[in-house]
Formats: sequence, structure tokens, C-alpha cells
Amino acid sequence: MEPATQDTKSSNKDSADFQSRLIKAIYDTSPDGILVVDAQGMVVAHNRQFLQLWDIATSQLHMKADGTAIGESDAPLLAEVVARVQNPAAFLERVRELYDNPQLDDHCEIELKDGRTLERHSTVLRGEQEQYLGRVWFFRDITAQKKHEAALIQLARHDPLTGTANRRYFFERAEQEFMRSRRYQAPLSIALIDVDHFKHINDQYGHATGDEVLKLLSEKITALLRESDLLARIGGEEFAILMPSTGLAGAALMAERLRMTIAEEASPVAGLMLHLRFSAGVTQLKAQDQSIEDCLRRADEAMYKAKQAGRDRVEACA
Ligand code: GH3
Ligand code: MG
Ligand code: MG
Repeated sequence: MEPATQDTKSSNKDSADFQSRLIKAIYDTSPDGILVVDAQGMVVAHNRQFLQLWDIATSQLHMKADGTAIGESDAPLLAEVVARVQNPAAFLERVRELYDNPQLDDHCEIELKDGRTLERHSTVLRGEQEQYLGRVWFFRDITAQKKHEAALIQLARHDPLTGTANRRYFFERAEQEFMRSRRYQAPLSIALIDVDHFKHINDQYGHATGDEVLKLLSEKITALLRESDLLARIGGEEFAILMPSTGLAGAALMAERLRMTIAEEASPVAGLMLHLRFSAGVTQLKAQDQSIEDCLRRADEAMYKAKQAGRDRVEACA
């Protein structure tokens, strides 16, 4: 190899300076909180964003805000971080697993006690001979993104008028419950509800009042259902209730309770007191049902029977 001339030495030094300035600039301006821990579990560096994200005061950790905390054990830092997460046990277990398995990279979301969500990436640092040097932990606040996602999910799954589940979400959940019922031999029931003479309400009081009736009915039904039941508006004035872990007798009893409660007391809607009625068909998933549609078809037939028999009643189909 050629001996290094004065020129190449100084250009190497320039390049090294440039590299370290570049790394520092990236480090300081990164939107991510960065923490670097070496193979001995010592904190090598952290940036300001890391302290801000985790709301850690530098004085608490005897660290400098510029992130040159070389030689500090990461234990007090970990204790600070753990105190802020919603599920400390799971968080610690995963951190230990990653430190014990240097071959693993990681990506996860962490819920904090203050309601924020952080995204975490953990990457292994290796030297030129592939030796383990430590880990870099990157943290990013994704709270706004998570809220946006939750709002989109809410929009996709719910009926804008009544706020209950929509048809699509009902079928998605019904499919899941169908599989769960098969796997665990657990009962599953469905009730279909159709408002009686709803067209008259629209014709007599107007479409806006009809809308208010649908909202009020949804509220009344929801208030009476169990947490595990799912009410959905699956058509104009048609609702479906998915009742996991409920047999036919229990489901029919529930539907009858709903019918009686709503029919017995006049409902205040748009300054009027309306007597609302509905007809319902109830059925339970059977061994021979090939899909949830078979069960829904039976509930629909039972509902049709209730209409035929004079409305304002619940028909159960075994
Ligand atoms: P039945 O007792 O046989 O069920 O009679 P019905 O009048 O309830 O049934 P029908 O299916 O003839 O009428 C349902 C009406 O519901 C017709 C439609 O204009 C009305 N409708 C559908 N969606 C909405 C809605 O979002 N808001 C309002 N106000 N009315 C709706
Ligand atoms: Mg109808
Ligand atoms: Mg109707």
C-alpha cells in the first residue's frame, strides 16, 4: 500500500470531521428519539428528542442534554421509561428478550399511561467483524396517526345516522363469531328487527322525524343489550343483533324484553310521543348451518312470520 501523503491524511481527517458533523446533525434534527446502548448495557448516547418523548429530565439521570452520557448504566433510564408505559411487565419482558437475543430486530407500538402511543424500532449495532456492539432504540410519537386511524375505523364500521355498527361490520363480526362458535362449541344467536309500519311514520311526520325514531330506537336497544352483544343497522329500518354465547331461549327472551320495553312506553321524538313497534325473528346457529348466512336466512324467515302473524311480536325459530 502507498504510504499516506500529507494530502490524503488531511482529506481523511476532513472526511471524518464531515462524517461526525453529519451524524450529529442527523441525530439532533431527527424526529425520532434515539437511544444507543452498548454491549455492556451502558448508555452510549441519546438525543434531546428521546428525553422529550419520554418526558425525562436530564437532572434525574445525571445525563447531559446533548446526549453524551457515556458510561451511564441504562438501568435508571429503563426504570423511568417503565414507569410511563401502560403495560410495564410486557414492556420489560420484550426489552430483556431483545437484550438476550442480539440477532433480533424489533418494531412495536407502546401505549403510555398519559394516553400517547409511541412506535419503537430496535436495531442491533455490529462492528466490522460483525461483533455485537449494542443496540439503537428509536422512538416516535404516533398518537395523532393512531387517533386518525381510529376515526377512520369508526367511520368504516358505523352507521352515521344512529352510530350503531353498519351492515358491513355486522357481517365481519358475525363471520368471526361463527368461527368462534364452531371452535368452542359455544352457542350463537341472531335477532333481526324490522320497525312496523315505518313508512307511515315517514309519511305522517316527515323523513327527519323518521330519522329521529331510528336514532332513539338504537339508543333504547343498546341500553338494554349486554356488552358482548352487537347491534347493527343493516338496512333502512332494519336492525340485527349478534348475541355470542347465547342460546335460542336467552336470545328470544332478550328480543321480547326489547319489544315490550319499546312498545309499552311512548317514545318522545321531535316533540311527539310516538308508540313504536317492531317485529323480530330470532334463531340460533345450528350444527348443519354451512355459514352465518344460513343462520341469517332463518332469522329473516322468522321475522317474516312475525309480520305475517300481525306484527309487534317476536318469532323464534329453533
Ligand atoms: P312493515 O311493517 O311491513 O315493515 O312496513 P314498513 O312501512 O316498515 O316497511 P317498508 O319496507 O314498506 O318501509 C320502510 C321505509 O323505511 C321505506 C323507506 O322510505 C324508509 N327508510 C329507509 N331508510 C330510511 C332512513 O334512513 N330514514 C328514514 N326516515 N326512512 C327510511
Ligand atoms: Mg323493512
Ligand atoms: Mg318495517
